[in-house]
Amino acid sequence: MSIAYLNGQFLPIEEAKVPVLDRGFLFGDGVYEVVPVYADRLFRFKQHIARLENSLRGIRLPMEQSLQDWADICHQLIEKNSLQNASVYLQITRGVYTERNHDFPATPIPTIFAMISALPEVQPVPSDKDLQGISVITAEDIRWQRCDIKAITLLANCMLKQQALECGANDTILIRSGVAFEATSSNLFIVRDGVIITPPLSEHLLPGVTRDFVLWLAEQHGILTEQRLIPEHELLQADEIWLTSSTKEIRPVTRLNDVTIGDGTAGPVWRQMYNHYQQLKAQLYRGEIDRNIEGEIAL
Ligand code: PLP
Repeated sequence: MSIAYLNGQFLPIEEAKVPVLDRGFLFGDGVYEVVPVYADRLFRFKQHIARLENSLRGIRLPMEQSLQDWADICHQLIEKNSLQNASVYLQITRGVYTERNHDFPATPIPTIFAMISALPEVQPVPSDKDLQGISVITAEDIRWQRCDIKAITLLANCMLKQQALECGANDTILIRSGVAFEATSSNLFIVRDGVIITPPLSEHLLPGVTRDFVLWLAEQHGILTEQRLIPEHELLQADEIWLTSSTKEIRPVTRLNDVTIGDGTAGPVWRQMYNHYQQLKAQLYRGEIDRNIEGEIAL
């Protein structure tokens, strides 16, 4: 049984209970983070916590916890669950109020919840399934106007993902006014003529920690990157399409609305980036990370 964290206590997840008057339950009034852990190290933790603080500011729920406080919760979860490679889910809601009332409580006592689940080991070579890629559809983005906040209110994301599944695809790329921004739980990249392109940060997409990492990693290896809007019609002209997230890392898209992308398997730039990503993780496992970049990637 997995051990979770709830408001200062570690307990079996089945015993972690939240009152029905919690604003997370009633209004989806909360934010969350998902942090990958490799070899007991919190991967890009500073960046994840900076985004969490940004999300908390975005919903006007200031918290006093330091980076170290959040790290302590995560490290204890890793230890208590005897996991080395995992993803930690952290959720903060505006807490319990005495009645269902839209107004913010004057002095909220946030509910803090965290749980952990296992992630696979480093895979130095991509599997056949990785190389096969995934298929996606496109659909109008029906989410709100503050997609830069990692809010727990994910009904639109769930509906848009379900739409893909019911079309026999794996995910949906979200379109606003003819422009592609991201997918239901990942950021969007395309490759054209060897250049890696991703939409610039805005209120229409989440500032993905993996998105930033991929841009950083590409630059480290001399691969050109560009941040600009991607019209929907350009997706079909792309040599490669990828989706990125902390748990899925970089995932190649090989079918879009039933049309094959590239030669229908993961493209050459993806393969290069996959190697760089896994090599860095392997170095982290072996404790061989260069001190200069260590602060950049792990805690
Ligand atoms: N975009 C959305 C809508 C997401 O939900 C996520 C991750 O959950 C991402 C992008 C990728 O973010 P990250 O790379 O920080 O996991």
